[in-house]
Amino acid sequence: MEGDGFFSRLREWINEGAGRWVTIVAALAVIGGAAALAYRGRKRSEVEAVLEHGRRVLFVCTNPECGERGEMRVPYYCSWPRACPKCKQKTAVPGFRCQWCGEIIKTQAKPMVRCPHCGYVHDFTGGPVSNPFPPKSRFREE
Ligand SMILES: [Zn+2]
Ligand SMILES: [Zn+2]
Repeated sequence: MEGDGFFSRLREWINEGAGRWVTIVAALAVIGGAAALAYRGRKRSEVEAVLEHGRRVLFVCTNPECGERGEMRVPYYCSWPRACPKCKQKTAVPGFRCQWCGEIIKTQAKPMVRCPHCGYVHDFTGGPVSNPFPPKSRFREE
């Protein structure tokens, strides 16, 4: 077949001298350009998405007449307590889900937190990985 001759000549050209460098430089340019475009594109859309959506957090309303628990979206670097979506009072504080019964419990600055719904005691003395507390500057105990 004629194709064989063409490809063997092409291989020879690539394997020696100028052909090799042209191939390498062209390949690097294509790979680098594509990577830069992909990286830029992803980064921009991720930042936009984050700014638009904030983050989802669990909250507990500390208003005794309300007591709403659930999930809500808050902007990054928000301050607590926040307006409760149900009673509209500024009584919503961050919460976390009970490992035993799944109810949402108010986050507390204590190493051991007892679930008021089932009595399960959460031990947060294990270290920062299992610590659900937000940084102190962003959380005020009521
Ligand atoms: Zn409420
Ligand atoms: Zn529980």
